[in-house]
Amino acid sequence: ENIAIAIDGPAASGKSTVAKTLAKRLGLIMVNTGAMYRAVAWATIQKDVDPADSEAVIKMLGEVEFSCGVSDNLSTILVDGVDPGDALRQDAVNQRVSKVAAIPEVRELLVQRQRDYLQLGSVVMEGRDIGSVVFPDTPFKIYIDASEEVRRQRRAAEGIVDELGKRDEEDSKRKTAPLVVAEGAVKIDSSELSIEQVIERVLEILKE
Ligand code: C5P
Repeated sequence: ENIAIAIDGPAASGKSTVAKTLAKRLGLIMVNTGAMYRAVAWATIQKDVDPADSEAVIKMLGEVEFSCGVSDNLSTILVDGVDPGDALRQDAVNQRVSKVAAIPEVRELLVQRQRDYLQLGSVVMEGRDIGSVVFPDTPFKIYIDASEEVRRQRRAAEGIVDELGKRDEEDSKRKTAPLVVAEGAVKIDSSELSIEQVIERVLEILKE
């Protein structure tokens, strides 16, 4: 029986690094769901679709192929056969992603793709609604948080322009699958912890 470890939290909380390290150590597939929402946002740029026009975005979903796969135990996503690569992290995508992620039809499509990963093996999946919506029944739920100040510093250290506060607010306020601490999730505040310390804490929680 394949298992899912759900790791949720706000932007730059450290959840991606934790999920990647954990997946590597446990030999599981790491699924980055933010990249999937980013791929839809990136596609709206390529197709010149207004991300706030949900009808236009929904129409685009029917015309563009999003293929999800795995390479080296990491999730991959192709948009009409093209890997957007680092473009998924660009500012234009940061500005659009919360808008497309608020569209229920976008979430429906991607949540289905996310659940499909479980057919390939056990997964560590990171995002905003993994413990609340994608795998509400999994006993393995972690919510990683950090102060806004620390998160801003982490992004700045990566040299990435990202209006974190604005994105988090949009992600927390949307009607469909807002960012919440899922029922049964264990919360870790990573503000004062190193990645290694967070991993140790997660491993302890998983053992319980
Ligand atoms: O994790 P990351 O910062 O790459 O996510 C980018 C955006 O994708 C988030 O700000 C949010 O709008 C959306 N997202 C989501 N649900 C997820 C993962 C990401 O709505 N499970």
